[in-house]
Amino acid sequence: MTADLPGDLRAAVIELAQTPHLLVALDFDGTMAPIVDRAEDARPLPRSAAALAALSALERTTTALVSGRALASLRVVAAPPEPTLLVGSHGAEVHLGPSSAELKPSLRQATALAEARAAVAQAVALYPGTMAEQKPAGVVLHYRQASETDGQAAVDLVNQELAQNPAFTITTGKMVLEISVVSANKGEGLATLRESTHATATFFAGDDVTDEHAFAALLPGDVGVKVGQGNTCAHFRIESPHQLPAVLELLLAARTNGGTHNA
Ligand SMILES: [Mg+2]
Repeated sequence: MTADLPGDLRAAVIELAQTPHLLVALDFDGTMAPIVDRAEDARPLPRSAAALAALSALERTTTALVSGRALASLRVVAAPPEPTLLVGSHGAEVHLGPSSAELKPSLRQATALAEARAAVAQAVALYPGTMAEQKPAGVVLHYRQASETDGQAAVDLVNQELAQNPAFTITTGKMVLEISVVSANKGEGLATLRESTHATATFFAGDDVTDEHAFAALLPGDVGVKVGQGNTCAHFRIESPHQLPAVLELLLAARTNGGTHNA
């Protein structure tokens, strides 16, 4: 089942499983779930979801999802196992358990947010196939379903309106342009998770440019896995979300068997 994984990745995962407190943090879209045209249709691959649930039930093991999605959207599509911690909006929203506070933008952030929403709404009205997604601290321009020309024109328009203003953090993803009024990234999100769980080592997998912040935040002994094509600072790579179940199942088996798996 895991025979198609690179040998060095197998060895690193088995080694990682020996750590006293393990943090397993995963991106969702393009990592646990294949990329789909309509974001609301994304669902985790059943084997990845099952492995995550099994890992979340282990002692000395914390699971987390680290996504660009707003937490509300992430909860709907990922249906994460109850103890799973959540980082949404690329780190701007964090759910560390039942007492976790919800994000409340300041007045200045709220004013900037209104400006960003207006700029994206203007682009969406002008260019067919583009759409806006609202987040608590940002707005996303999606152009996956627009023509190349319209998509680029929409991106240019939004950048022209907002890019000079330091109130905005603008991030480019896969056919999305994201404007946030909270400066945060997945690396900061991962650091928050590590601190709050006292994890002694971390597994992280992600597919997009925004995941590079998380890979860069990994420490010696952690394992970072880039999913799919593209430049990365992760030490390991798998071809697609369809290879992730084998990685998670290996981690689960090695963690369940304790030292006996460390051949
Ligand atoms: Mg992703």
